[in-house]
Amino acid sequence: MTNSPLTPGIVPGRLPAQSYRDNFADHTPALDRHEAQVAADRCYFCHDAPCVTACPTAIDIPLFIRQIATGTPEAAARTIWTQNILGGMCARVCPTETLCEEKCVRETAEGQPVEIGRLQRFATDTAMARDLQPFARGASTGKRVAVVGAGPAGLACAHRLAMKGHEVTIFEKRAKAGGLNEYGIASYKVPGGFAQREVDWLLQIGGITVKTGVELGRDVTLDQLRAGHDAVFLGIGLQGVNALRAEGEEKAGVRNAVDFIAELRQAADLATLPVGRDVVVIGGGMTAVDAAVQSKLLGAETVTIVYRRGRDKMSASVWEQEHALNAGVRVLHNAAPVRVTGNGAVETVEFAYTEDGPAGLKLSGEGFTLKADQLFKAIGQTLAGQPEGLPVEGGKIAAAGPLAGVWAGGDCAAGGEDLTVTAVAEGRDAAEAIHRALTAA
Ligand SMILES: Cc1cc2nc3c(=O)[nH]c(=O)nc-3n(C[C@H](O)[C@H](O)[C@H](O)COP(=O)(O)OP(=O)(O)OC[C@H]3O[C@@H](n4cnc5c(N)ncnc54)[C@H](O)[C@@H]3O)c2cc1C
Ligand code: SF4
Repeated sequence: MTNSPLTPGIVPGRLPAQSYRDNFADHTPALDRHEAQVAADRCYFCHDAPCVTACPTAIDIPLFIRQIATGTPEAAARTIWTQNILGGMCARVCPTETLCEEKCVRETAEGQPVEIGRLQRFATDTAMARDLQPFARGASTGKRVAVVGAGPAGLACAHRLAMKGHEVTIFEKRAKAGGLNEYGIASYKVPGGFAQREVDWLLQIGGITVKTGVELGRDVTLDQLRAGHDAVFLGIGLQGVNALRAEGEEKAGVRNAVDFIAELRQAADLATLPVGRDVVVIGGGMTAVDAAVQSKLLGAETVTIVYRRGRDKMSASVWEQEHALNAGVRVLHNAAPVRVTGNGAVETVEFAYTEDGPAGLKLSGEGFTLKADQLFKAIGQTLAGQPEGLPVEGGKIAAAGPLAGVWAGGDCAAGGEDLTVTAVAEGRDAAEAIHRALTAA
């Protein structure tokens, strides 16, 4: 959104130039070799390790940590990539505090887990810096597979299919591959163009053609893809956004948080990105936290997240909630927006307190008003329309064999949490299923 006469409070350049660099620098700097050694030495190399069970991609964590401990981080990277080809990205963005590190025996015994995420980053960064590409394309099978969507699910699927020798074409509607790794994840988690570097590195395997600017449903139909390929994988994520259902939500200054974040991720100079003085974010997940924290880092004076249920129901992890509070974001619970007021552009948002009872959420007669010149909606993404002929379950594509020759995985498919690592696991597993189907006698 450019600054318009309707939105005088939304302006670029609220901060001195250096502040943008400081605010958006790597928020969890990489471990050096010595720090990695010390962190690796804390691992008990458990048999039946609970950290492995907690990882959606089932990386052999004790093995890769032992490989770091014995001074072979390249071998550790190979162990990681064997299960999770986007292991470098997941090391940066996984909510490890609710996955592997939460289950680490040193967390349960001492409240201080082994730093699995940071060790994973150390291993993958070390190997990528040496341009190590441990996987080769398999001997050609002559089979052709279409992958729709170049997000984590599509990329993981394509890479595994290339390893098996299939010829893959990825159809991606955006200008760049990467999905939300490129257009969604908070900037300070993946600075320095890491998402594109990882895509380029992954594609080195060969046998994968990426066609950007091609949209399923607009430029090509599912029937055409099925006719021209032996199998189709859909990894199209969630492109729709829920409506706020508050009076006046069409006013200038009201925006989908995912669009704001995508613009932020693509901005060549953050000083040119307009942000409000008083920002309100509606939602309780990672998107709400990321929109709020990044608004604050761009120089907004007050930033408030308002969530309709209690703190324990927020899908943002406790770590993320604290991260927001530490960044100076205020978080209010049990309130829902009912009216956006202002003369053309948002000026205030009126909220009603909610009561969460057995019959669901009810608005109480009481409420409050927040001043706002920018309002972000972060209340969940949805499938954009229904892909032709595919059954939908709980608002997502039914995962189990929806249509002959078509597989789906990642955020668009039913089941599993909406996380990068889950999308990678589902893309990889779909590739294995496609391979079995294509090579069955
Ligand atoms: C703001 C935000 C922050 C997040 N932060 C984190 C985080 O810190 N950690 C974490 O683990 N998860 C995070 N997530 C969730 C994570 O990004 C997703 O779970 C993950 O990207 C899902 O991968 P995917 O491949 O299924 O979908 P996506 O990443 O959405 O990729 C889908 C791809 O398909 C393309 N596409 C869509 N429709 C079509 C079509 N019709 N034709 C062609 N191409 C199409 C899209 O352009 C896109 O490139 C975040 C999500 C958001 C929105
Ligand atoms: S649970 Fe913790 S200590 Fe045990 S193998 Fe995993 S990281 Fe190491």
